[in-house]
Amino acid sequence: MIGNNIKEIEDLIKIISKLPGLGPKSAKRIVLKLINNREELIKPLTIALSQVYKSVVRCNICGNLKSLNSNCICSNKKYDQICVVENIADMWVIESAGIYKGHYHILGGTLPSFESKKTGSGLLIESLVNRVKKNSVKEVILATSASIEGETTSHYISDSLKDTKVKITRLAKGVPVGGEIEFLDDGTLYSAFKNRSLVTSD
Ligand SMILES: [Zn+2]
Repeated sequence: MIGNNIKEIEDLIKIISKLPGLGPKSAKRIVLKLINNREELIKPLTIALSQVYKSVVRCNICGNLKSLNSNCICSNKKYDQICVVENIADMWVIESAGIYKGHYHILGGTLPSFESKKTGSGLLIESLVNRVKKNSVKEVILATSASIEGETTSHYISDSLKDTKVKITRLAKGVPVGGEIEFLDDGTLYSAFKNRSLVTSD
């Protein structure tokens, strides 16, 4: 009886309850609000969603989101630093903590552990190397998780960047073992950034 047995409503409630932080109850409230505001909410929401669906894609150079109607932020000419993160959520956390104002590179995940020598497995690692070369980047900050996968990935990247001679740093170990960037508090993240250490190839 969740959506008065109207299939359209039930379908919508199901979709909305999949969104982060929402369960069936809040999804139902949202749908009711939408239905009661057809012109003010449903219509503009439908338009906005279809625009995002059509024009927002992942940049295949830096991994960030971009609109097909404008250039990606990574095409800006000059930048000295690139901060490498696993996903967009991690970038947003670092951004909102206000610690770092430079450019990002979003890998799109981590390498599976113990398979570091297999080629980058769909992660944007080759394009990171190209960005470093093309923009004469001075520092690459590795901000991957302090998990085995994060460490494996960070090793693989510093290996791939060896020939570029770029300075490679890694967030300090203030990041708890197994710690995912996304869930760190601002203070921990801040000190991890400030105390980042040089990565040396062995
Ligand atoms: Zn880009």
